[in-house]
Amino acid sequence: MYFQFYEDYCPSEESYHSRYSTDSENELPNYEGETCEDSKKNSTIEVNSKFPNVVAFRRDLNHHALMNEFQYFIEKSEPTRFIARCASRECEWRIHASILQDGVTFEVRRLIDKHSCTQSNKCGNKFATQGWITSVVVDKLNMMACSKGFLLGCRPYLGLDACHLKGKFNGVLAAATGIDGNNCMYPIAYGVLESENTESWAWFLRELQRAIGTPNGLVISSDTQKELEAAIGLVYPSVEHRECMRHLYSNFKKQFRGDFFRNNMWDAAKTYCLSEHDRLLDEIAKKRSDAITFLNENHKKIWSRSKFGTTAK
Ligand SMILES: [Zn+2]
Repeated sequence: MYFQFYEDYCPSEESYHSRYSTDSENELPNYEGETCEDSKKNSTIEVNSKFPNVVAFRRDLNHHALMNEFQYFIEKSEPTRFIARCASRECEWRIHASILQDGVTFEVRRLIDKHSCTQSNKCGNKFATQGWITSVVVDKLNMMACSKGFLLGCRPYLGLDACHLKGKFNGVLAAATGIDGNNCMYPIAYGVLESENTESWAWFLRELQRAIGTPNGLVISSDTQKELEAAIGLVYPSVEHRECMRHLYSNFKKQFRGDFFRNNMWDAAKTYCLSEHDRLLDEIAKKRSDAITFLNENHKKIWSRSKFGTTAK
């Protein structure tokens, strides 16, 4: 499977045919030294905006294009200047940036930031028509920069989830999130998948694994999306795989409603004491033994604190 960096995702003839395969890592620009903070900031694309280098400019331009749901065509990409127009040929959107005298800083010199192409047909559906939807796009810059912060500052806990994208970019936005020292969510990586199939998820996880490896005591938490579960089994077969209790309960309660089930299930999830956990499940079993069968069949991952490993807490 192929993938591409955000900075090259626009479907110009040049970039369209220069996707990097997963094993041509050495062709990639080097972003060492870019901190997670740097990569999170996106400068505004406007006339006289300055960027520390061409990489930062291209990244922010891609962000701008993504946020405004258009694709652009690169007319010139040279060491000293960069010219692009909207991928829709009749559209008047243009950008021209060039290098300053210091030899590194890039500045936007001219910008026509108005699209005359229509919203519904900004660039045609190139992704779908050219098989783009089958490739996966990932912001590798973020992945590389944030992986360091994750490894240095977070416990070995990964939350994985996805949501469907609406609008121009169809597909599924997949995200890997950690928890930092302040118990705040720490974004590690995200990518766009064609859909939530096992192959796409496995691809995303392999990219993630290349960035963060397999930290000691790694825990992965996810919902029970079957393809995601399968992909985790493929890429991280031996890590502790936890299931999100919110997702579990919202599934469980479709069949087993009411205070009795809710209280016992949540107490069973929250208690640190294994015998108490078992006692609560016994209570449920006495009332509805099929509830336990349901759990055993549909929710095989770890969902109760009493069964968590202790490395990731
Ligand atoms: Zn346009």
